[in-house]
Amino acid sequence: MSKQLKAETPSDSVQHDQSAVGEAVRSVIEDVRNRGDAAVRHYSEKFDSWSPPSFLLDRAAAEEIVDGLPPQVVADIVEVQQNVREFAQLQLESMREFEVETKPGVHLGQKHLPISATGAYVPGGRYPLTASAHMTVVTAKVAGVERVTACTPPIRGEIPAATVAALHLAGADEIYLLGGIQAVAALALGTETIGCVDLIAGPGNAYVAEAKRQLFGEVGIDLFAGPTEILIIADEHADPFIVAVDLLSQAEHGPDSPAILITTSEKLGREAMAHVERLLPGMSTADMAGPAWRDHGQVHVVDTLEEAFSLADSFASEHVQVLTQEPRLALEQMRHYGALFLGEGTCVSYGDKVIGTNHVLPTRGAARYTGGLWVGKYLRTVTYQEVTDPAASARLGELCGRTARVELFEGHARSGDVRATKYAGAPAPW
Ligand code: NAD
Repeated sequence: MSKQLKAETPSDSVQHDQSAVGEAVRSVIEDVRNRGDAAVRHYSEKFDSWSPPSFLLDRAAAEEIVDGLPPQVVADIVEVQQNVREFAQLQLESMREFEVETKPGVHLGQKHLPISATGAYVPGGRYPLTASAHMTVVTAKVAGVERVTACTPPIRGEIPAATVAALHLAGADEIYLLGGIQAVAALALGTETIGCVDLIAGPGNAYVAEAKRQLFGEVGIDLFAGPTEILIIADEHADPFIVAVDLLSQAEHGPDSPAILITTSEKLGREAMAHVERLLPGMSTADMAGPAWRDHGQVHVVDTLEEAFSLADSFASEHVQVLTQEPRLALEQMRHYGALFLGEGTCVSYGDKVIGTNHVLPTRGAARYTGGLWVGKYLRTVTYQEVTDPAASARLGELCGRTARVELFEGHARSGDVRATKYAGAPAPW
């Protein structure tokens, strides 16, 4: 049994907005495809009122920006990047390469090869998302990507200094001050001045996420990482004030960011809602968090934690925070989430900003089929094989000849036949 204390009340125009975004993205991509740099500049002027002599920021300018920042800001960037690097390195070490002899003389192997060139999209429309620089550049470099091209938009006409510093310190090879669809299209398709990449990674708003989706195939993408979502599971032991603060921590990302509470305690649900209403007016980001909570906030009361986990699974939310007496139960019982935050000692903001796990995570239900950005997304797992024993090749050749003919593949079959004939003297059936 479940009861809803607060339901989502999206405006009627949501569906319309989605298809309008799709149309807008399609036309910008086609224009960048046809007109290259001229189109990129046109849309940067149109959407960001931004048209510098060059979108490329050279190394000297990036270094000057690092030098101009307060030392504490630089030290914090370095510390967080080290956390992200350490976790990515552990992930890399967990990826096994192997070669085995599956039968005498039959050798099969697997290797992980880095992608050669990637694009790091670092959002910046509303906030300078400096942390996305760590996630997309540090992780790519740990994987061994040779060329990382970063794009980040200006913020209200200003260069986002901390983001540029983070990109530079993380080891970005090129930094373009460019955002939105035009940046994603330039990275995917290449222009006269911007080299195309093999994979684009990084979060973004609905336009950025849709541009990546439409260009997938022409370029690789990490995942569908659109507007941020939070889902909190809380029992009667949770602190309703912390629940409210944490719900708002993600609602402030934008007016389209869902914040959902599932609780086994109606009392806690009502108290958390009251705290949200009380806290909202005093937040400097209330213009984002307010509409997000009003239109996309939900509060569900369920009877048991099992129901809570099951309902949470049906949302397949980007971030799931578990504020219960035994938070680790979620590790056993939940299946669909981008990242789990277990217990009151941690929170989604730690994952977003400092702790070291990657904050580029699946949204809009994509957690049903993918995890978040990680070092493995920058690696291609390739296989190889060698047969060193002629008798083994002859046996495989006979098997190949028979099975390929079942599929009516005469050419495949003959590749097997010739080996069976050459190595074991089997008569060729043709
Ligand atoms: P952004 O960089 O994604 O988008 C800004 C760009 O959007 C601008 O440069 C502009 O060119 C373009 N744009 C704006 N309005 C447009 C319009 N009407 N038509 C065409 N283009 C337009 O930055 P943002 O807007 O601040 O959004 C960042 C997003 O990233 C948020 O939604 C946040 O929730 C999300 N996010 C997601 C994750 C994740 O892992 N899923 C992580 C962090 C942030």
